Amino acid sequence: MNEFLPQGWGTQGARGIVFVVAGPSGAGKSSVIEGVLARNQGLHFSVSATTRRPRPGEVHGRDYYFVSENQFEEMIRRGELLEWTTYQGLRYGTPKAELQRPLREQRDVLVNVEVQGALALKRAELKHPVVLIFLVPPSWDSLLERIQARGTESPRTVKERLAIAQQEVQYIPEFQYLVVNDVLEEAVRRVEAIMLAERARLIPLESGPS
Ligand code: ADP
Ligand code: 5GP
Repeated sequence: MNEFLPQGWGTQGARGIVFVVAGPSGAGKSSVIEGVLARNQGLHFSVSATTRRPRPGEVHGRDYYFVSENQFEEMIRRGELLEWTTYQGLRYGTPKAELQRPLREQRDVLVNVEVQGALALKRAELKHPVVLIFLVPPSWDSLLERIQARGTESPRTVKERLAIAQQEVQYIPEFQYLVVNDVLEEAVRRVEAIMLAERARLIPLESGPS
């Protein structure tokens, strides 16, 4: 706490902030988040649970908790998930512990979810600020190119992901920030700039985040 601050005022950076990066599959969320994490040691990445199979290079506990359908149901039943969704027939959910543990230590958290998950986290009344960032590629053509370049989808799932993307972009006005992922390093810097600004935001301490 800075001694120039009037009584009852602080900056958001004094508590943990949840930065949610959402946007269409192929926008570059994982790539941008990886870049931000590499340059910001104290940040915690919220590892989601999913019933999808690991892609080459993905590691259990680092990229996702890869679980069975039964295990996922069990997590819901025990109240361990903050929000969850079905995406292309597969389950994805944010474990409560992935946010609660770091936030308790005033550490900021980065979350990678689809758009409805982002809006659910905003509504979840976490007692910590939740900042919604929508990531897009420069164009629809580049979105298609990137999904195809990743090489993890069949032609059918590529088509489905594009159809989902068309629904998702309708929710852009519900987000606080739009970041265009043209050159990856620049997109990483833009997300970092948002993080810096949000940490400096003045808030009245008694009423908590807006
Ligand atoms: P998402 O997590 O949003 O689904 P990924 O991070 O997996 O997206 O990126 C999708 C593909 O696009 C990957 O092959 C990735 O290497 C590539 N990619 C990500 N950002 C850029 C960029 N700025 N320019 C070119 N290709 C990119
Ligand atoms: P992918 O299979 O490409 O890793 O992820 C598919 C979609 O699921 C992406 O839009 C990703 O952001 C989203 N997603 C990943 N984890 C979660 C989660 O915990 N909750 C929600 N709602 N969406 C998630």
